Amino acid sequence: MQGANGYSILFEPVKIGPVTARNRFYQVPHCNGMGHVRPQAEAAMRTMKAEGGWAVVSTQETEIHPTSDLGPYAENRLWDEHDIPALRLMTEGVHDKGALAAIQLAHNGHHATNHLTRAPVLGPSDMPIDTPFPKQARAMDKSDIRDLRRWHRAAARRAKEAGFDIVYVYAGHQMTLPQHFLLPQHNNRSDEYGGSLENRLRLTRELLEETREELDGHCAVAFRFAVDQMAGPDGMQAQEEGRAVVELLADLPDLWDVNVSDWSNDSQTTRFQPQDGFQVPYIEFVKQVTSKPVVGVGRFTSPDLMASLVKKGVLDLIGAARPSIADPFLPKKIEEGRIEEIRECIGCNICVSADMLGVPIRCTQNPTMGEEWRRGWHPEVIASKGHEQHALVVGSGPAGLECAMQLAKRGYDVTLAEAGKEFGGRALRESRLKGLAAWKRVADNRLWQLQQRANVQMFTDSPMTAEEVADLGIPNVFLATGSQWHRDGRGRSSLAPLPVQDMPCFTPDDIMSGELPPDSGPVLLYDDDQGYLGGVLADHLAAAGRKVILATPGAVASAFTDLTLEQARVQTSLLQAGVEIVPLHLLHSADATGAALACAYTGRIRQISCASLLMVTSRQRDTALFDALRADYGDRFTTLEMIGDAASPGLIADAVFAGHLAARNFERDPAAADAEWFRRELISLNDMGGA
Ligand code: ADP
Ligand code: SF4
Repeated sequence: MQGANGYSILFEPVKIGPVTARNRFYQVPHCNGMGHVRPQAEAAMRTMKAEGGWAVVSTQETEIHPTSDLGPYAENRLWDEHDIPALRLMTEGVHDKGALAAIQLAHNGHHATNHLTRAPVLGPSDMPIDTPFPKQARAMDKSDIRDLRRWHRAAARRAKEAGFDIVYVYAGHQMTLPQHFLLPQHNNRSDEYGGSLENRLRLTRELLEETREELDGHCAVAFRFAVDQMAGPDGMQAQEEGRAVVELLADLPDLWDVNVSDWSNDSQTTRFQPQDGFQVPYIEFVKQVTSKPVVGVGRFTSPDLMASLVKKGVLDLIGAARPSIADPFLPKKIEEGRIEEIRECIGCNICVSADMLGVPIRCTQNPTMGEEWRRGWHPEVIASKGHEQHALVVGSGPAGLECAMQLAKRGYDVTLAEAGKEFGGRALRESRLKGLAAWKRVADNRLWQLQQRANVQMFTDSPMTAEEVADLGIPNVFLATGSQWHRDGRGRSSLAPLPVQDMPCFTPDDIMSGELPPDSGPVLLYDDDQGYLGGVLADHLAAAGRKVILATPGAVASAFTDLTLEQARVQTSLLQAGVEIVPLHLLHSADATGAALACAYTGRIRQISCASLLMVTSRQRDTALFDALRADYGDRFTTLEMIGDAASPGLIADAVFAGHLAARNFERDPAAADAEWFRRELISLNDMGGA
């Protein structure tokens, strides 16, 4: 099969120091909310990537010492030999599937909080820690630096013992000591570790040399380096010191893993960076400077772009975090010419949000992500059907499409009915808003798969009534009828409708259907939801020439988007678009003269002159069909189940997951399903003793 589809260059082996990657697909380190807290889950997730064809599968950042305690986040940990068995689960799984395992060793300096360990925080200079907390890092003296080098060397030794093939020195994301020493914004030392670039690079060089010495040809040494901070002359730039670092270290590592920092720049969402391969302009110089292999990222999902980057000599290895999350089988699908089946990452960063919350990773496109161990889900495999033959799915949003697709894969005859003119529900509707075009991929991927199957019948323009559903005579019915945004202002701050009179009032559904508020005066967007949508709508209306005032009880616009690394970009783009942001205010009332906002703390009223309102507050579940079916025809159905936003409004990722779960659970023994929510990793009662 290989080579048949023109992508054979992607399946050439690549030598990385003493080890060889079987092809050019490289899963770079990425966080996942499992780590040392849920090591079996992490091992299973990484093993799935290896099964999907990735040649190298990496851990997330791995704390090397208690002075780099990233709690409460669930990263990996290799403080001492007690941490080796948990990591060995991953290396054994990954090796079993023919891939190499890489570990990203990290000392996080003043990015670590040490809340758990209460150790003093270390940094190149005296400075406050990264997060807003009244605590400071102390400038490391020579003996601290000697300690750090010793800890790093010991961690490399333990990594080798745990079975890793590639061991990282990590200077990226503005999260680790080697990079902190490199950046003048953090390093104001006057000794041989500060000042000139050679001096600021000294620690990195020592760590690279000592890691190589410790591994003694058994494992490759990778260097993850952010060549550019995307801050112009205020930070490191690829064409200035970024290039100089690569020139100074050139062939010292066995592999260059290059990107941009900080994390919000490296993992940009499609909303703010729609271009796949957006990091290429920053990293393309690296291969001209070093003879060692280079891996880079940039949300690569197009095999054409991947192959062209290798052919052009930009990259040796195609790096991916998010594309490997959205589709762990991306390499296999390319190898087997199944390009249309690739579940393309939509760049929404819901995966990141889980890490931020310290819960197992999830993905909008891939509902099995994070469920490999605890629910035993495989992204490409689902059990065949039982004795039932036919299922009806009503509604073709993310929940309905996923449920229908998985039921069809299981072998049922599936009928899908959609009231609207097109399939896709909210994935399609939201994709019409500014910045969210890529979200259509959620519908496209599933529609394509449904269209390939002979056992699926799909109907648009089919608003189903209870009578029509009953008349179909299909005994198993899944209702994915979604939800609508409230127009009356009820939401988190007030469960009762708000007093609004004589003022045109719009909902997000109106705007997604193409309506626009009048341009006779400002539109007051009341964002009590505080998710992503309020900010998206404000941006959308501003681009359509409306003057927008965004009022929210939150301290910032779209507070939720902190979790997707977008909040700063949201606020900046809104301000640049001329949107007036009124934080910490609730909508009190509105009439023909304008709106009254109440301060969230004092209740003090502030009058706002506006011509219309846009309420982004909460949603009404659409349960009408379910209620009518249950009341009038309940005894006719073997299965009558509500899924997705109709059952519980949430993210698109939640709707996809709900559709997937319903399809998996269909014809499963309900008692078993109840008893086995999912497997848990119980805390060991072993006492290691005071170390
Ligand atoms: P979810 O996120 O749960 O998938 P969506 O709101 O995206 O929900 O999609 C719900 C879909 O269900 C919409 O496309 C809507 O047109 C459709 N729908 C709602 N009620 C009916 C009905 N009675 N018959 C057919 N389709 C319906
Ligand atoms: Fe991509 Fe979104 Fe999935 Fe993350 S959650 S991998 S950004 S589709």
